[in-house]
Amino acid sequence: MSKRTYLLCFALIGILISFAPAGEWKSGIVWEKPEVVDPGETDDITGMKPPKDAVVLFDGKDMSAWDGGEKWIIEDGAATTAKGGVRTKQKFGSCRLHIEFASPEEVKGSGQGRGNSGVYLMGKYEVQILDSYENETYYDGQCGAIYKQSPPKVNACRGPGKWQSYDITFTAPKFNDDGSVKSPARLTVIHNGIKIQDDFQLKGDTAWHRPPEYKAHPDKLPISLQYHGNKVRFRNIWLVELDD
Ligand code: MG
Repeated sequence: MSKRTYLLCFALIGILISFAPAGEWKSGIVWEKPEVVDPGETDDITGMKPPKDAVVLFDGKDMSAWDGGEKWIIEDGAATTAKGGVRTKQKFGSCRLHIEFASPEEVKGSGQGRGNSGVYLMGKYEVQILDSYENETYYDGQCGAIYKQSPPKVNACRGPGKWQSYDITFTAPKFNDDGSVKSPARLTVIHNGIKIQDDFQLKGDTAWHRPPEYKAHPDKLPISLQYHGNKVRFRNIWLVELDD
């Protein structure tokens, strides 16, 4: 190979690499498989009622508290994901959030492709929603994981189509004037009555393609719910704002 051909090949490879789509980021941490526990059955008609001081985000009738909510399908007191994610019109910081969800009754797909959605606190910090009932995927991406950062302590999923609950206590991160982190975001998650995340300190946001990172942001931001192509149902969504 002539020197010129060699250089040409080298340049071509460089160009190809720079145009390649970004791949999945993996932490490299080898997690133990979360033990499967049975959370017991639930009443399929009613969930936990909001307290008096709660901000009700979905009461089974309409998704008017959410930008994009008009695209979701309301039926039998539940909102089914469709055509894109939604985010609250109101902005929130630290809060205690109650949300109920159900993965599709008809099991389709596997791994991350089954019953995938997610609750994004401040639109940045995802508590994964997935049908992890007899469905293997990477542990820091299964139901109840803080995506790519912390697997759930146990797998407390109910089966496909069954109503499940998250009670999430979120502490918003704080930033110094120079943009550095003053205190990280923290999450406690109760899944179907079982604590699966215990005041976990987040390393940053929860992207698929890069490591977690913090970028200074306002004290309050919308909460969003992910649309990942799967028909996940939601009901009874409310929160109580917490003082910092
Ligand atoms: Mg998700």
